[in-house]
Amino acid sequence: MSIQQQLKEDIVRVCRMLHRKNYLAATDGNVSVRLGDRVLTTPSGINKGLMEAYQVITVDLTGRVLAGEGTPTSEIRMHLLAYELRPEVSAVVHAHLPYATACTLAGIDLLEPILPEVVITLGGIPTAPYATPGTEEVPEAIRDFLREYDAILLSRHGAMTLGQDVTDAYNKMEKLEHTARVVLAGRLQGPVTPLPPAEVEKLRHLGEKYRGGGS
Ligand code: 13P
Ligand code: ZN
Repeated sequence: MSIQQQLKEDIVRVCRMLHRKNYLAATDGNVSVRLGDRVLTTPSGINKGLMEAYQVITVDLTGRVLAGEGTPTSEIRMHLLAYELRPEVSAVVHAHLPYATACTLAGIDLLEPILPEVVITLGGIPTAPYATPGTEEVPEAIRDFLREYDAILLSRHGAMTLGQDVTDAYNKMEKLEHTARVVLAGRLQGPVTPLPPAEVEKLRHLGEKYRGGGS
């Protein structure tokens, strides 16, 4: 199997996992993978849980269609900006996570250091301001967060995650939704307090080592 075909199959597998986990409803969400100067992306407006590998569309780094039927995802500019600003990133996942999106509706900030493994693996989860889905507003709303974070909440919309491959980006999405569920469940029982600053410092240091960025 060619690497291109393998990556298309990987996209399909992740789309099915997203759908099975209820991270997508109806035609929500999109997934892409970078392969050199090309990007393989889900098409717009179909149920990603039912998608097949032959439906994956190939675009260049400006979004021009090189191969495939239909229209690339309406969020292609958000994906392309991630690849432009983060050369080490090879996959982007966007999903409409129910619990994480609920946090944005309720004004719950997941950037607060609450769970240690989130500080280690993601650094934190910022919330980008509201932007109309499918428009140029979305990449502009996330631009500043993209430089620093691999998991970003989109206010009233969902989330995007970046990874070295599509499974890595998917795992960050799963981590994000799990975090939102835990925080919301905790808040039902009483106040949720952040980790103490000294512990956050320690976890950040561990995180740098974990992500290969420090000693
Ligand atoms: P597409 O089907 O165009 O990818 O749109 C889904 C979506 O989630 C838009 O924000
Ligand atoms: Zn969306």
